[in-house]
Amino acid sequence: GQALALRGIRKTYNLGLPTAVEVLRGVDLAIAPGEVVALVAPSGAGKSTLLHIAGLLDTPDEGQVQLNGTDMTRLGDRQRTLARRDLVGFVYQFHHLLPEFTALENIVLPQLAHGTPRKAAEDRARDLMDRVGVGPRALHRPAQLSGGEQQRVAFCRALANAPRLLLADEPTGNLDPDTSDRVFEALMVLVRSTGLAALIATHNLGLASRMDRVLRLDAGRVVPA
Ligand code: ADP
Ligand code: ADP
Repeated sequence: GQALALRGIRKTYNLGLPTAVEVLRGVDLAIAPGEVVALVAPSGAGKSTLLHIAGLLDTPDEGQVQLNGTDMTRLGDRQRTLARRDLVGFVYQFHHLLPEFTALENIVLPQLAHGTPRKAAEDRARDLMDRVGVGPRALHRPAQLSGGEQQRVAFCRALANAPRLLLADEPTGNLDPDTSDRVFEALMVLVRSTGLAALIATHNLGLASRMDRVLRLDAGRVVPA
């Protein structure tokens, strides 16, 4: 099955009110396991809305969300939350790391919450950090890291519980262009080495062109770029 399949997704904010905004107007999209797909669109086009629906953080008004071949639209809230924790990793423009914990703990904690024993969780965290070059920063707190290092740690945290799908919203949008390039490369190394499927929203056409496929969000629909 597909890692992610969206069919006929529609979403309107303020449904029924005079100022209703129809953001998604029938989105169809499929991403195979291991495929890395860019989503390019101007600000306000609905990228965040689409990523939130794909990641089970929000529900569509109409349409179907399938993760790993399973229809998620029929699940109750509790089951949807569990499915999200198992299947989806999120990365945002800002790292959202917990400031009072070390980089290592930020990657270990979600695994403990998931039932992984501490030793295994630490081993996995260190392995992920080594792959993106932040191994030596394991015991630093987020404020002691550069912006690029903070994002690398956030990538590791997103992958901590071995999700099937990575959803990233402008993952390097907060960094200067040179750093952005290197940090994006680190993200690709991580994604490729785990065989993960990824949907990555970006304004950066240079970065988008390095992914397997580029899609555009246009007038509420997803089309090839
Ligand atoms: P993007 O991520 O592409 O910038 P968003 O998905 O954040 O776009 O927003 C798409 C449109 O939906 C915008 O016009 C935005 O103002 C509107 N919107 C987003 N979230 C809400 C909300 N919770 N309530 C009302 N309107 C919203
Ligand atoms: P990156 O390319 O990973 O963003 P930079 O080029 O910004 O890294 O930073 C180079 C080095 O300087 C990094 O190893 C980082 O640890 C250190 N550094 C940058 N900013 C800070 C900071 N605010 N506090 C402590 N060390 C920092």
